[in-house]
Amino acid sequence: MILNVQNLSVTFRSKGGVVYALKNICFSLEKGDVLALAGESGSGKSTVANALVGLVPWEQGGTYELFGEKINPYQKKSFSIVRSKMQMAFQDPYSSLNPRNTVMEIVTAPLLARGISKNEATKKAKRMLDLVGLSNADVHKFPHAFSGGQRQRIGLARALVLEPKILICDEITSALDVSVQAQILHLINDLQNELELSLIFISHDIDVMEMIANKVLRLSNGEVEVD
Ligand code: ADP
Ligand code: MG
Repeated sequence: MILNVQNLSVTFRSKGGVVYALKNICFSLEKGDVLALAGESGSGKSTVANALVGLVPWEQGGTYELFGEKINPYQKKSFSIVRSKMQMAFQDPYSSLNPRNTVMEIVTAPLLARGISKNEATKKAKRMLDLVGLSNADVHKFPHAFSGGQRQRIGLARALVLEPKILICDEITSALDVSVQAQILHLINDLQNELELSLIFISHDIDVMEMIANKVLRLSNGEVEVD
């Protein structure tokens, strides 16, 4: 088991009152798994992803183990271990791609931030951009020059350049045309084999999940739905 989450619960407090976004979510991941996280809009899928990478606080108990290591989800510091093993790709990578940076700058940035030399970072970025299907000519362009599908490729390269073992994809094909969706799903499949990734694939589209997943966790109102 590479990931084991037990009783993850998340509560949001806002002016409107308290939202119990997640209640006692339990799941695990084996190496090579593609776990589909399914459920209607608002069911809590993104909150699971955000809790796994430390973007929202775990509130009422819950335990978290990653590659046999106990993570303390109540301690910000312990998420540095998580980030070395797990990365995320989003529905709208454009909003998180700095428009003033070239593709090469975008993909090398996470490596440079971790103290890797520019030479080494450029090498790693080139390999990853090649794997996601971007050409050498693309690397000096800016994000606005690309289509939605190509931007997903840039977002994937940026997440994967850190060599995570687990990739979380949060609705990465949801804004794309059907034909482009299929290309990105094929790419995900190739990347999974090439990089020996395990995946948590979030989608509200049943067809997409059936194409890609070997396990499904269905959420409804912040709880795991039992068939
Ligand atoms: P999904 O990704 O399945 O569409 P989310 O995980 O985004 O669902 O949201 C689950 C619930 O938590 C929703 O009711 C949503 O309104 C609420 N929620 C999510 N993020 C926040 C937040 N930062 N503050 C308050 N409520 C939130
Ligand atoms: Mg969501």
